[in-house]
Amino acid sequence: MRCRFCGEPAYVWVDRAGGPLCRKHLVQLVERGVEKTVRSYGMLRGVRRLGVAVSGGKDSVALLHILYKLYSSKVELYGLTIDLGIKGLEEQLRAAVENYKLLGIPYRLIMLEEEHGFTIDQVATLGRKLGRPVCSICGLVKRYVLNKAAYEEGLDAVATGHNLEDMIEFASRTLASGRLEEFSRLSLASPPGPRMVARIKPLGLTEEWLIEAYARAKSLRFYEGLCPYKPRDNLREAIRYAAGMVDEASPGYTKILVRGVLKAAGRLDRPGPPLGFCEKCGMPSTGRICSFCRTRERILALIEKRS
Ligand code: SF4
Ligand code: ZN
Ligand code: ZN
Repeated sequence: MRCRFCGEPAYVWVDRAGGPLCRKHLVQLVERGVEKTVRSYGMLRGVRRLGVAVSGGKDSVALLHILYKLYSSKVELYGLTIDLGIKGLEEQLRAAVENYKLLGIPYRLIMLEEEHGFTIDQVATLGRKLGRPVCSICGLVKRYVLNKAAYEEGLDAVATGHNLEDMIEFASRTLASGRLEEFSRLSLASPPGPRMVARIKPLGLTEEWLIEAYARAKSLRFYEGLCPYKPRDNLREAIRYAAGMVDEASPGYTKILVRGVLKAAGRLDRPGPPLGFCEKCGMPSTGRICSFCRTRERILALIEKRS
C-alpha cells in the first residue's frame, strides 16, 4: 500500500486522514494537529518559558519532541521529571533524561525522597492505612511537585502529555459522578493563579495510538513498561475500546466530541484558584495546611511508627 499523498510505502492507516500514510506524512499529520490545538486554545499566549513534564513514556516523550520541533525557536523549553522512588522505573527516568540531552533541553530531576522524605514505594507498603489507593496519592504528589518545581523555576506554563482518550475518560467519569463543579475543570489550558503555574495539554486532541505511531515512526526512545502499581482498570480499557469503535464508525468523531465537551465545560463557572497559602510550604491552599502537606505528614508518621 502507498501513501495517499506521496506514493511512498505506507506506514499507517488513518481513517480521518483518508487512509494510508507514509512516515513523513504521519509525522506531519500529528505535528500539524498539535499546532492547531495549541493555536485554537491559545496555549502559548504570553508564555516565554515552558515546562514540559516528561515521565519517559511514549506520550510525554513525543510531546517533548513535538514542542521542540514546533516552538523551540519561540519559547524556552525546560524539562521536569519526577523520580517518585518506584523500583523498576529507573529505565523510564533514564529515557526522559536521554531525550532532554538529545535535544539539549535544560531539565530538573525532582527527587521525591530527597525533597519530601518519602517514596511511592513506601506509600505502597502502607497499604490501606492511608485510606486511599496508591495511585490517588501519587496523583496528588505529582500535581503538587510539578507545580512547585515550575513555580520555583519561574516557568510560565507546564505542558503535560494527556491525550484524547485521557480527556474522554475524564469527561465520562465526571459526567457519571454528576459533580458539575468538577466538569468545569475539564480544560486543555488551565489559567495561572497565585503561585499556581498555568497547565496546558497540547496532545489533548490527539489519539493515543497516533502518538505511539508518531514516536515509533521517529524512532524515539521511550519506556514501554508499566508502573508496578498500575491497577487493572476495566472501565478505563472499556472507555478506550468504545472510543476506538466510535472513531471507526465515524472517523474523527471523538475529537469533535471532546471539543464540544470542552466548549460546554468552558461555559460553566470555574472555581477560582485557592486564595490562601499553606502555612507549612507556602503553596496555594484552600485550608490552613495544603492537602499535600497533610498527606505527607501522615505518610511520614506511619513510616516512623513502623520502623
Ligand atoms: Fe503513580 Fe499509579 Fe501512575 Fe504508578 S500507576 S506512576 S503509582 S499514578
Ligand atoms: Zn507520504
Ligand atoms: Zn503545604
